[in-house]
Amino acid sequence: SSAAHETDVVIIGAGPVGLFAIFECGMLRMRCHVVDALDTAGGQCAALYPEKPIYDIPGHPRIDAADLIDRLVEQAAPFSPVYHLGQQVTALVQDGERFHVETSTGTRITARAVVVAAGVGAFGPNRPPLDGIEAYEGRSVFYMVKRREDMRGKRVVIAGGGDSAVDWALALAGIAASIMVVHRRPKFRAAPEMAARLDQLARDGAIELVVPYQLHALAGAGGMLTGVDVATLDGVVRRLDADVLLPFFGLAMNLGPIAEWGLDLDRSHIAVEPSTCASSVPGIHAVGDIASYPGKLKLILSGFAEAAAAAHAIRGRIFPGEVLHFEYSTTQGVPGLAA
Ligand code: FAD
Repeated sequence: SSAAHETDVVIIGAGPVGLFAIFECGMLRMRCHVVDALDTAGGQCAALYPEKPIYDIPGHPRIDAADLIDRLVEQAAPFSPVYHLGQQVTALVQDGERFHVETSTGTRITARAVVVAAGVGAFGPNRPPLDGIEAYEGRSVFYMVKRREDMRGKRVVIAGGGDSAVDWALALAGIAASIMVVHRRPKFRAAPEMAARLDQLARDGAIELVVPYQLHALAGAGGMLTGVDVATLDGVVRRLDADVLLPFFGLAMNLGPIAEWGLDLDRSHIAVEPSTCASSVPGIHAVGDIASYPGKLKLILSGFAEAAAAAHAIRGRIFPGEVLHFEYSTTQGVPGLAA
């Protein structure tokens, strides 16, 4: 839509942290519009790992990423957020006490404060430099797994040594016909507990660790893989039989237009003051993966706390001089919910 809107707070990014920011703002009586480039809410959780269980959300011993997003949307709903999905915020301009935001589809929003919850920006996977890989992408080479079931009975080669590679090796054990994990070092850079589970499955023979090897070439025809060649650093090549290759080499950080908004940056992140998540421009706050400060943890739960800090700081700007006489959700009551 090319409509013009006016609101208290515009939130850029509808990932888990942007969604929780709606709730935190709502509790402090601030209305929100939320913009996301993807056509669905949920950020990385929805786009990259909807079926992967998350174990470190307080109060949820285990919750699938897609379910967490559904609950965050439900938790925000009583505050009637307005979503503008499938459009990237291209421009952010300050005009006195107000900010004007414009999107790639022409939507214009005027707000009194901005919460940037843009994760890693416009994200895309890092693609391994293999000849002809484009022909296999989306058919037998995937940078994300939407449904575990799609991998049932397949010979899967996973490449990478970080959390995604390890988590997916664990999640596909027992579903895939075989799993080989290719990493250029013997040691994995994953959560220690997950790395220990991987080692256990490797000892049990459920997973084969192909280390230290690097991807070398793809074999197959018509977009369908038959094998993946891997090589040692000395160039010794080995062929792995495979139906599917899952390269997990992280996300390319592309701040896109955010880099041009005049905010102080810290290596592709927005530098903030952690107690308020204020950026270098008063009225613009950054939360979640895109925010940087000493000791920052790129975890959903840290992002939730940052959303609370930002909302409280913004409230003071929007309602100056008003005393905050409530602090807990239980004493205020949530609109739409029984007290
Ligand atoms: P994101 O989820 O990245 O969402 C940001 C959103 O902003 C995106 O939807 C993007 O489209 C949008 N956006 C960016 N720029 C613009 C723009 N200019 N205009 C409009 N929209 C824009 N964390 C945990 O705590 N526990 C886990 O178990 C866990 N497991 C993970 C497993 C994997 C495989 C991966 C990849 C990550 C995992 N994480 C985990 C990390 C977690 O997903 C991130 O910390 C979290 O998604 C950050 O949330 P966010 O809302 O800050 O950003």
